[in-house]
Amino acid sequence: MPFPAAFPQELLDRFVDCLSVELRRFKRTNTAHEVNKRALLNCSQASSALYYRATRGLFSRLFIKTPSQEAPRRFSALVKILTPSLATSYTGVRLGVAHHIVEFYILLYGRSCLGAGVHDTCLAKEDAVKALNYDTLVSILSKLHTAEYGITKFSLTWGTPCCQISWANLSPQFQQSFRDLILSPYINYLELLGEFSNIPGSTFSGSKMRHLQINSLNLESDNQAEPAVIPPVELPNLESFCTNYSFDIDLSPTTSPLTELKKMKAINIAPDHLSRTERILRLATNSLQDVTVQFHGK
Ligand SMILES: [Zn+2]
Repeated sequence: MPFPAAFPQELLDRFVDCLSVELRRFKRTNTAHEVNKRALLNCSQASSALYYRATRGLFSRLFIKTPSQEAPRRFSALVKILTPSLATSYTGVRLGVAHHIVEFYILLYGRSCLGAGVHDTCLAKEDAVKALNYDTLVSILSKLHTAEYGITKFSLTWGTPCCQISWANLSPQFQQSFRDLILSPYINYLELLGEFSNIPGSTFSGSKMRHLQINSLNLESDNQAEPAVIPPVELPNLESFCTNYSFDIDLSPTTSPLTELKKMKAINIAPDHLSRTERILRLATNSLQDVTVQFHGK
């Protein structure tokens, strides 16, 4: 049904955008979030004049928070609506939603293996590795950036910290799609949270991102046969940096990527982490505006 001609499209867009702003203002656990989401859904189905803007509001920030074994099903559902296809017309999403997505969050979790007695494998970790290696996720990541559009923030969390996920166990296809994504000129924020290990120091190099949060990452090889000297992690020039782990970064006053840092957050500081944090703070003395330092323990 066409909308009354009394309202120009610009005004209709503004009405719908107000709902989107309200949606983002509240946490997903808040009832107000649900109410605004429902309102946007209704708009998307009420009129073609409201459809485009409502879909944008609904999909601009996308969360997949799921037990790892459920993740493939969630990824399969998402990939069908990302780009226009036969499937998108069935599901009522006419244009595909990939170009609406600005922020994409994946949080995988499973049952911790701690306290489960003697075991050889961690099922929670195995499910998460399987989910990350799932072909469809590779396809999703590649659809989230093109020359014309791209997400600005990507967040990946392994939410069950019983066992580390080694980057070496993730498929070359996943690793490549992850690299391609963070090399996209649109990417500004990256969060990699949870116990990931063996991440190559060059993983972040060449990215245009300005904000990086890496918690509990082990960027050093656990392969005892490798030489003890590990080259520093290559970071892009950052505006904000949050970490709880100590690893080697270039801290030279002339070449360090941290000399323009405006925001620094160091969490869970242990003695070996302290001196490096102190050096970073000195390095960025002239630019830092916001510093948080949390010490480990009581
Ligand atoms: Zn485990």
